[in-house]
Amino acid sequence: MKLNRRNFVRGIGLAGLGVSTGAVAELATITGSGNLDSYRYTREPRGSIYRKVLPTTFYKVIENRPGYIGTIKVVGKINQIDSREHGFAELVYHASRQDWSGEWGQAIKEAIDERNKIWGKQTPQQREDRMWGNAIVMASDQFHVNFGDAGSWRPIAPTRDKLILPPEEMSAKIKQVVKWYGAVQVGICEITEDMRPFFYSVGRTKGTLRGGSADYSDEGRAIPWPYPHKYCISIGVFEDLSSAKGLVGPLNNTSVATECGDDDVYPLWLESVIRGLGYDATAHFIAKEDFIQPAFGVKAGLGELGRLGQLVSPWGANIRLAAVTTNMPLATDKPIDFGLQDFCKNCKKCADNCPAKALSTKDEPSEVNGLLKYAFDPIKCTKQRTTFGCAACAAVCPFSKPDSTLHTLGRIIARDKTGGKLLKKLDDFFYGEKPAPREMGQWAPWRM
Ligand code: SF4
Ligand code: SF4
Repeated sequence: MKLNRRNFVRGIGLAGLGVSTGAVAELATITGSGNLDSYRYTREPRGSIYRKVLPTTFYKVIENRPGYIGTIKVVGKINQIDSREHGFAELVYHASRQDWSGEWGQAIKEAIDERNKIWGKQTPQQREDRMWGNAIVMASDQFHVNFGDAGSWRPIAPTRDKLILPPEEMSAKIKQVVKWYGAVQVGICEITEDMRPFFYSVGRTKGTLRGGSADYSDEGRAIPWPYPHKYCISIGVFEDLSSAKGLVGPLNNTSVATECGDDDVYPLWLESVIRGLGYDATAHFIAKEDFIQPAFGVKAGLGELGRLGQLVSPWGANIRLAAVTTNMPLATDKPIDFGLQDFCKNCKKCADNCPAKALSTKDEPSEVNGLLKYAFDPIKCTKQRTTFGCAACAAVCPFSKPDSTLHTLGRIIARDKTGGKLLKKLDDFFYGEKPAPREMGQWAPWRM
């Protein structure tokens, strides 16, 4: 459909809602020639998409309540998870050993065979793309190898000289310093007894495929409880979904792995900063984490848990989480509610766009390991990501849109049920219900 104001107003019914002509005109400016995805073809400065201070009009602050982690309802017993059973841990284990036994082994073999089949029919350009892509993935993964438990990274020792400040002031300053370094969101929560189920029963000691070998085994490590640190500083790092969604084929991992490697740096840096102020601190990131990050991000007020199984902030699912735990005396934040639980019931855009059908399309959430949430099939997702790479769910989420007056309006109206339905319609109208993935030539930095 040709994009013009009349079609927009007719399609969405905004006139009746009193949306200004100025807002519509702004949208036309954003969209340029009517290609609504054009703004996502390049790596934009993150500030143009994701402001570091979340406008208070986007959400309400809620209290920590018994039986809830933020807006996640606890409805049964939560069993702790052995982190070696996670999708990528299974991939590392089975691929390193060439062990194709069991459901995971079989799925990973099928994914690798499929990928090799695609790679076997390459044109010279595709071969070059694959070599660039692999080189970048290996370079990015090397951060995990060297920063994880099996690597050689050493944080500084806590200094003897302690900086003493009131907890409120220390929290505010820590947040400002981490945002100055580059994080887009920072929140702090207390590690209370109700957070224990979100700690792994056993932690991993080898976090990446490149750390594995034919005799790969991971004996795991115990996670101490009571946990030695009282506070968790949850860090949101901006994820550029322009290339993640843009790529068709196995090299999607190029952009995903790059950002994944970047994310190691923030918590490691903060770990040493806090130690430099005289307190103990531990960094937690993908290759070295003691707990399931989204639960802590939700409690620390960074966002809510979405249907796609990740933290979604009012800015969207284009956020990666890392954390630092510490005993530095800090003031904590409260969780936020921006209407996502109701919005997800109607939206389903992540599930409808999941190429592996790994996400639930049911109208209502149900009990999954003691939590009221949407079911997710980790085997289907890992298979898809092993063969092709994927970040489609996060990229299509209606909240993962740039910061503009119109999108600001959308984020505000999404807070109520009727407004939420409208935002979904608006997103489908402008971005498409099932946006087509972009070809590599539209984003790959090595393509001249
Ligand atoms: S990453 Fe891809 S395969 Fe996995 S759940 Fe999201 S859309 Fe589905
Ligand atoms: S795409 Fe829709 S259903 Fe999925 S997490 Fe985002 S808002 Fe929820």
